[in-house]
Amino acid sequence: MKISFEFFPPKTEAQRVTLAETRQQLIPLGPEYFSVTFGAGGSTLDHTAETVADIHQHDGVPVAPHLSCIGGRPESIRQLIENYRQQGIDRIVALRGDLPSGMASLGEFRHASELVAFIRAETGDHFHIAVAAYPEVHPEAETAAMDLKHFKAKVDAGADSAITQYFFNADAYHFFVERCRKAGIETPIIPGIMPITNYSQLSRFSEMCGAEMPRWLRRRLQDFGDDRAAIAAFGTEVISRMCEQLIADGVPGLHFYTLNQARPSLAILRNLGLAPE
Ligand code: FAD
Repeated sequence: MKISFEFFPPKTEAQRVTLAETRQQLIPLGPEYFSVTFGAGGSTLDHTAETVADIHQHDGVPVAPHLSCIGGRPESIRQLIENYRQQGIDRIVALRGDLPSGMASLGEFRHASELVAFIRAETGDHFHIAVAAYPEVHPEAETAAMDLKHFKAKVDAGADSAITQYFFNADAYHFFVERCRKAGIETPIIPGIMPITNYSQLSRFSEMCGAEMPRWLRRRLQDFGDDRAAIAAFGTEVISRMCEQLIADGVPGLHFYTLNQARPSLAILRNLGLAPE
């Protein structure tokens, strides 16, 4: 099973140390790649590039920088991808991103499909380009059908694979993939897996990004209150079972949203027999 792990770029020394430890714990699993997120509007641009270079030079694991285009200028995006190419980096996760509140200018790129087309026009087939997919429908989409059409536009523009927004319901993923295949989308669609470690944070985040937390899951997690250990134990069980089902159904890989913590992903991977005890 192909496994990949997503990190955010650390901003403080303490966060840097945490991420360094996390990477060391995950490298022995032989991940397909590590990916590093990007802040829209360029706010974490330097941190992303720094973290990417650090992984590329030290980890022996391929690295995929995320790149979001909203509010970005073609010259700066051109420079950034050229910089990655010159370092020998050959993966990119191409996104639209979200504008920070109060930022009015959309810039020249409106949709991720335009970024994918731009990267292809600038660098040909150099990069493996992954894009985002939304089994439960992107929160801004007018309809599920329009969202699918826009997802197809990213693939038609040259995306090689997709990583999904996280979900807690494997059926959402399966029906989405089935619909994609019927629409002629053949690219691998890798489920994004979010370990459950903190109820209030996850609840807020899920609300924002349109990932549905089923009522039964919310109610169970609420019962644990501040008992982080109990939340983590139950969360590991829930996500492990969902991953088991996804693997049995033949998913092409699992992409873990680590939030820079190794332990929650490792606990799930151990349950799946994909990490040593
Ligand atoms: P798009 O594919 O452009 O779609 C966004 C919305 O616009 C959708 O509703 C779509 O239906 C609609 N749309 C697309 N094309 C058209 C069109 N031609 N006409 C009208 N409507 C259209 N955010 C970050 O800031 N940094 C990150 O590093 C980051 N990493 C992510 C990684 C993954 C795997 C995922 C799933 C999300 C990530 N995000 C990240 C969040 C992402 O930026 C947001 O979800 C954002 O709102 C949409 O980005 P997108 O690339 O999916 O956009």
